Amino acid sequence: MVYSTSGRGRVFDSVLTTVGDTPAIRINRIAPDHVTLYVKAEAFNPGGSVKDRLALNIIEAAERDGRLKPGQTVVEATSGNTGIGLAMVCAAKGYPLVITMHDGFSVERRRLMRFFGAKVVLTRKEDKGFGMYSKAKELAEANGWFLAHQFETPDNADIHEQTTAREILNDFDGHRLDYLVMGYGTGGTVSGVGRVIKAERPDIKIILSEPDNAALVSSGTPQARTEDGEAAGSHPSFTPHPIQGWTPDFIPLVLQEALDKGYTDGMELVSGAESIAWSRRLAAEEGILTGISGGASFAAAIKAAEKAPEGSVLLAMLADTGERYLSTPLFEEIAPDMNEAERALSESTPGFVYPM
Ligand code: PMP
Repeated sequence: MVYSTSGRGRVFDSVLTTVGDTPAIRINRIAPDHVTLYVKAEAFNPGGSVKDRLALNIIEAAERDGRLKPGQTVVEATSGNTGIGLAMVCAAKGYPLVITMHDGFSVERRRLMRFFGAKVVLTRKEDKGFGMYSKAKELAEANGWFLAHQFETPDNADIHEQTTAREILNDFDGHRLDYLVMGYGTGGTVSGVGRVIKAERPDIKIILSEPDNAALVSSGTPQARTEDGEAAGSHPSFTPHPIQGWTPDFIPLVLQEALDKGYTDGMELVSGAESIAWSRRLAAEEGILTGISGGASFAAAIKAAEKAPEGSVLLAMLADTGERYLSTPLFEEIAPDMNEAERALSESTPGFVYPM
């Protein structure tokens, strides 16, 4: 390998101008032989996830049209990555931020948001996504705060149309690409990318994925909504799953665009166990660090690849980094102490043997 870097040819005015332009990386060791598999590694964003894009656009679009006033408090319900993205953006721009989040999500997420200066208000896991969302809404109404509305706002899919989709088209310009594989949290990625792909590269099939025990879209049961499009309650097909950031307990309005306009060409269901297993393999055999949802997206890509013709090219979205999951099932089997093989190595030479 020849190492050659030349910088980015520019300097950056703020951390916020470093959002996006994440790399599409080829999988070299764990992909099936008959296909070529790439991953788009959103961990390269400054806040470590795909949600930096949406956080930046929610704030900047609201600044532009006056919905967000200087110094006004921002509030949002989020399972983590949106909160971390918003915390980064609000820190850089000087807005106070309050996040509501149920206590089932990893503690490092809460601590990261607080590290960025945000306040994190917990709700109970039993009250699911709907509980944390209702709390955010209540706080916004009671205090006149700006509610970010990630599950409903057009600013979500718009940023993926303007950035994520453009990056994919540009990176695969003149290259074969047959399948684009991703899950959904809000659906911003699939709806925004779908608009552009269907218009400009309709040869690319978009494969959506969801947990096998929260197969909301696959169930065919429509989501009950209020007049302004918000979910009116939990979807009957939801059960809790370990793929944090994916599939809340309702079908978001932002995702509904992709479903109604037929942006998706297929669906793959994945289990939590498969997701964790693939995330570990991506780290241990490819050196690519991603979270549980990255493993889930990759698991879905492997399933799509198994059905795909010889020579197919696939791109899977990896939404975030793995370091965010140290206290979750992703790292459950990774012990802090030496295992038998490590101990044997320690004892195999005379010096500095570690006591039992
Ligand atoms: N994976 C993780 C870890 C996430 O936090 C999110 C966003 N909630 C997604 C995937 C899905 O992205 P989107 O909201 O654009 O559907």
